[in-house]
Amino acid sequence: MSVTLTAKKTPITVAYGDGIGPEIMDATLRIINAAGAQIEQETIEIGESVYNRGLSNGIEPSAWDSLRRTRVFLKAPITTPQGGGFKSLNVTVRKTLGLYANVRPCASLHPYVKTKHPKMDLVIVRENEEDVYGGIEHRQTQQVAQALKLISRPGSEKVIRYAFEYAKANDRKKVTCFTKDNILKMTDGLFHRVFDEIAQEYPGIENEHWIVDIGAAKMADTPEAFDVLVMPNLYGDVLSDVAAQLTGSVGLAGSANVGDHCSMFEAIHGSAPRRAGQNLANPSALLLGAVMMLNHIQQSDAAEKVHNAWLKTMEDGIHTYDIFKEGTSREKVGTREFADAVIERLGARPSTLKPVTYTAGAPMDLHPRPFKPMQAKRLVGVDVFFDWTGGAADDFVAVLEPCEADGMVLQMMSNRGTKVWPAGSPETFLSDHWTCRYMADGPHSISHHDVAKLLANLADRGLDFIKTELLYTFDGAPGFSLAQGE
Ligand code: NAD
Repeated sequence: MSVTLTAKKTPITVAYGDGIGPEIMDATLRIINAAGAQIEQETIEIGESVYNRGLSNGIEPSAWDSLRRTRVFLKAPITTPQGGGFKSLNVTVRKTLGLYANVRPCASLHPYVKTKHPKMDLVIVRENEEDVYGGIEHRQTQQVAQALKLISRPGSEKVIRYAFEYAKANDRKKVTCFTKDNILKMTDGLFHRVFDEIAQEYPGIENEHWIVDIGAAKMADTPEAFDVLVMPNLYGDVLSDVAAQLTGSVGLAGSANVGDHCSMFEAIHGSAPRRAGQNLANPSALLLGAVMMLNHIQQSDAAEKVHNAWLKTMEDGIHTYDIFKEGTSREKVGTREFADAVIERLGARPSTLKPVTYTAGAPMDLHPRPFKPMQAKRLVGVDVFFDWTGGAADDFVAVLEPCEADGMVLQMMSNRGTKVWPAGSPETFLSDHWTCRYMADGPHSISHHDVAKLLANLADRGLDFIKTELLYTFDGAPGFSLAQGE
């Protein structure tokens, strides 16, 4: 009796998206299926057609069932409708499914794709949920709007640990952190501190920190100096597109959005509507996203086969219009023909470009570590923000002084973060947005009732306080920044 063993198929959720999406998804699925990927496809609808049916975040409620069932999402780009009232589908999916790490490998294909950086081979791990992407914004005065930048310890720990585990699993030698903690001492400072702490757990991997501005300049000039990079959301959003473009084209970069429960794999580019339906688009970025997906679902053989066949196709000069160059390329092909060329080369390896080797290694150790002991949190003051246009700082102090509450004293006033009282500078521009810092008038704590009394006094005086921030110390260390010049 003979028994045929068939490998168990892994269910995945697939969305064909908009514009060039269906063509590049079709090419990608043809290639990975031909390489022996064992997948069982569930298709969901996202994007323009869903937005047009009046669903403001571009995804059918029933699609979440599929995503929660398969926990693996291969997603083609979508077209985001113009105008207000629509929410970004990508941000919705990332935040709803807790996809905390966005991983974007960016490697040059010199000499087959033109680039100024032939030796570049780096991976950007971008924090994917926090920072200003909470989208918590307020217009507070006639002149001023604000966005809240939120960085959490657990959020930072997760993405930084992921970056080190990724480096370990992929035999990378160094992890670099970019922040702007010379200015943002509380938020980016926390990210940097967590980086330094977690780096200690990985003595075999080199670690370093750069201030993001000079780090970005170094990356644009000498990308080969970097290996794995980890950074907060906004810097990662900007710099991962820069890094992809430095390799020659954003059309060549795939990405993984990784969470504890689900993961999403995609191209970094958009739906290129002007190229849609013409068999022109380059499917490489989505294909490389699919390679990351195959590794994620432990189908490394298929991942390696597809990636090496793709490298060989690149090396053979079979290029879509976006990277085709007379003299370097050999044949200009469409999306379908490009997919055929990769399929023909399945099993082949590149001869000049470095072939990839993927092995299903030990799973990454991403378990959160126990929380640090709680620190003693003490309320010592309050920043009250005002919309006020009644004159100079001294004039405002005269208005505020009669409103003081027992146990608290007005200590400092700033305007857009620059100290203007006491001893302000006459050159400082005064907007209508003021911050007044009230502190306990002795070593005692203050209470929420004290703050409420102060606010009641201010309200009685008819003052427009637009927001408050309570000032705490943690084990005696201030949990608030000083104003410029304080
Ligand atoms: P885009 O990335 O779609 O296109 C930028 C340029 O790159 C265009 O010239 C385009 O023709 C070219 N290009 C992109 N991908 C290509 C490919 N695979 N092959 C060949 N050429 C390619 O950016 P855009 O034009 O700013 O945006 C178009 C739409 O995509 C917008 O609605 C945008 O909101 C959306 N978008 C979606 C995602 C996503 O779903 N992840 C990401 C970015 C943009």
